[in-house]
Amino acid sequence: MKNNSFKEIAGALKQHHRILITTHTNPDGDAIGSSLALYGYLKRKGYDVHVMAPDPDPTFLHWMPFHEHLLCFTQDREKCIRLIDEADLIFSIDYNDLGRLEEATGYVRRSNGMKVLIDHHVQPGPEFNLKVSIKEVSSTAELIYDFILESGGNEFIDKDIAACIYAGIITDTGSFSYSCNYPKTYEIAAHLISSGIDGEHIHRLVYDTYSEDRLRLLGFSLSDKLVVLPGSNTAFISLSKAELEKFHHEVGDTEGVVNYALSIKDINLAALFMEREGVIKISFRSKGNFSVNELSRKHFNGGGHRNAAGAYSYISLQETIDKFVRLLPDYSEALKIVY
Ligand code: 5GP
Ligand code: MN
Repeated sequence: MKNNSFKEIAGALKQHHRILITTHTNPDGDAIGSSLALYGYLKRKGYDVHVMAPDPDPTFLHWMPFHEHLLCFTQDREKCIRLIDEADLIFSIDYNDLGRLEEATGYVRRSNGMKVLIDHHVQPGPEFNLKVSIKEVSSTAELIYDFILESGGNEFIDKDIAACIYAGIITDTGSFSYSCNYPKTYEIAAHLISSGIDGEHIHRLVYDTYSEDRLRLLGFSLSDKLVVLPGSNTAFISLSKAELEKFHHEVGDTEGVVNYALSIKDINLAALFMEREGVIKISFRSKGNFSVNELSRKHFNGGGHRNAAGAYSYISLQETIDKFVRLLPDYSEALKIVY
């Protein structure tokens, strides 16, 4: 199915009244930033709009404008189910498959509301009535910016909405270090800064608010848990439940850890394995043309982007690591290329 235009989405909005914005499980800065920017915009335009994430977002995102309106499915189940049932238009923001709503998936699937996707992940699922799915952008926040402008909302981009969009862009590009070889990303950033936001302050709010435990967990991950396989141009880190508990792990504390494994010279594939209740959460990152989206889809039933993808594994932590290491010889040629 080909993309719709933002004008078509704006047209559909005019015919619907109860709007629900949803984003993906384990929400990151782009998921929350783009959802809250869209929420702020629609609220200011007078819509009856709500915004919901499947599970809690990390505390380093709680400063965001409109955050007090963000609902969490696991924490406010009854209200979220009611809002899903009542919505006549449901936005899917920054994810490509309704399965990424976790426990909320079934409720959204059965809803008769129009389903509208705005996202930048590859291979969007088939369950959307309207979609704008573009992978050649830094972030979904950038698409929300385009949507606001193309639906004639330029004057609505004030400091609050700009801060949400800016946070989405910096978190999905690692502060303009990947997924950002697009001139337009910088043009948008320039416009946002000229709207009066303090980009340096936003950067500090997102990146310089570690707890002591979080920083020590990072230190432990790098000094004790990093495994480097130079022959496979691969590095990985695994964290057991007990290790995470030792550092009083909270949502978001391991955000960015996998990128350190990728920062080693000639390492083109990095993975982080985290043991949670009954499931192993995997994060993959890569350099250059090596697609962790494909690796993740093929072997772990996950997905994402070419250079950043995730998955869940339902075998033990050690079995998951063994499975990953056994796969590497199949990819040795592709992983050898120097980027
Ligand atoms: P992270 O490793 O930070 O959790 O995720 C990296 C990227 O892959 C993000 O864009 C995230 O939305 C996506 N992603 C993470 N887990 C999954 C998954 O299980 N399925 C799919 N389709 N995408 C995922
Ligand atoms: Mn994103």
